[in-house]
Amino acid sequence: MVSLDEARRVVLDGCRPLSPVRWPLGVADRCVTAESVSSPGAVPPFDNSAMDGYAVRADDVRSAGPDAPVSLVVVATVLAGHPCDLAIGPGQCARIMTGAPLPAGVDAVVPVEQTTTGSWDPASSGGDDGIVGVFQAVDVGAHVRRAGEDVQRGDEVVGRSVVLNPARLGVLAGAGRATVLVHPRPRVGVFTTGDELVAAPWPLAPGQIRDTNRTVLLALLAREGFDPVDLGRIPDDRGALTAAVKSGVRSCDALVTTGGVSMGQVDLVRVVLDELGDMTWMQVAIKPAKPFAFGVVRRGRGGRPVPVFGLPGNPVSSAISFELLARPGLRRLAGFAEHELVRPPVRARVLGALSRRPDGKVHYARVMLSADPESGWVVRSAGGQGSHQLSALAAANALAVLPDGDGANDGELVEVIPFDATILS
Ligand code: AMP
Ligand code: MG
Repeated sequence: MVSLDEARRVVLDGCRPLSPVRWPLGVADRCVTAESVSSPGAVPPFDNSAMDGYAVRADDVRSAGPDAPVSLVVVATVLAGHPCDLAIGPGQCARIMTGAPLPAGVDAVVPVEQTTTGSWDPASSGGDDGIVGVFQAVDVGAHVRRAGEDVQRGDEVVGRSVVLNPARLGVLAGAGRATVLVHPRPRVGVFTTGDELVAAPWPLAPGQIRDTNRTVLLALLAREGFDPVDLGRIPDDRGALTAAVKSGVRSCDALVTTGGVSMGQVDLVRVVLDELGDMTWMQVAIKPAKPFAFGVVRRGRGGRPVPVFGLPGNPVSSAISFELLARPGLRRLAGFAEHELVRPPVRARVLGALSRRPDGKVHYARVMLSADPESGWVVRSAGGQGSHQLSALAAANALAVLPDGDGANDGELVEVIPFDATILS
């Protein structure tokens, strides 16, 4: 048997970041950046109004109050996207709409609600030569969004090796970018293997079970921000498996398979992958998910080596093998920084017990992690711990790491890997 760290090393050695591509912002969500981006200009690019109202000189309305309106002459109307060339003089003001550039001569905005106008009829174009009464004194800069308040010229807006999200894409758009250099999201093909497998709606014939692994893995891949590719269910047949691997490596950046990697008589995935690629077959000292294969299959002679993850068939094993071994490799392919490949664990106090027997392996128990006002993080078992018992994994939000031995008693501290870091914040 090899340790989890040794198996992970084999995986990471075979996974290099995908070559950067320049992609339009619209398709780059969840990609990892391969460049640092600085803004060539300020955002906002000019001083503008934060309100619909009147652009004034603060000094002119210093004495204004609810019962003492100050009258100003309205000499212009400024709309968003339409700068006004006129400089506003003392005793004058301009109607101004949210986002419109502040004209010269003014230094503050009074919201329309604080004036005798009260509100505007959006349908009326309005004259510029009226008089308006202002009921509110304002400070210099009131309701004005200054140029550069969000981003200054030259600021780094997105660093290298950062995962893009909608707001980061927005910041890039604000900095004038239409494209960004990223590592492409890996296209990851999944096929499951086994003559016993059928798709969900079909009635089961004797000996058949439903294929759950493909559903789980495709969803896990999508959650990770990769592009999952469903390559179907493949029977325990050498020709069919060979065809599936060959077409998978042609169309995908990585392949994930389940089943057929242990010592069974029809564990043909092993035979086929050995024939087509350069594989390492491992017995990893963990439970569940002991059998595991990793290697590369080339896209034709001299072609790109495509990483292939051979996960075990048992439903819980395949999911945990994905979490502990495939996910770090795929994240490396996606361009994540070294320190972001595996999830950081937390320490939590056991409620009840998480028992196990000594067997030379580290156990990953399916647990429910929660915050307790007094004891901090606490964990309890999420149910049956068999590698076929997917319900406990479904109830779990974390894995508890139980080193070889008898497990953890009530009140002991254990290391826990939360599935989703947002529960920690
Ligand atoms: P194998 O690794 O192919 O020997 O499979 C180990 C166990 O996992 C067997 O009980 C299989 O029936 C089961 N199994 C394999 N693939 C799947 C799958 N896609 N969905 C659910 N169970 C599976
Ligand atoms: Mg099988």
